[in-house]
Amino acid sequence: MHCYFCQKNIKDIDFKNTKALESFTSAAGKIKAKEKTKLCSFHQRKTAQAIKRARFLALLDYVKK
Ligand SMILES: [Zn+2]
Repeated sequence: MHCYFCQKNIKDIDFKNTKALESFTSAAGKIKAKEKTKLCSFHQRKTAQAIKRARFLALLDYVKK
């Protein structure tokens, strides 16, 4: 298992933790594919959800300039 969140035993990804979420987005601000993030499917889904939530609350950019 190489999943970042599994290793840290984190079940719920905090959408306020934008620093961590940013590392799972590409330079353009897109959510990275599962193959690139190396997350398990459970955490990939959780991460995507957290990023979307953070975007909605304007904590993360939809598109980086
Ligand atoms: Zn995981």
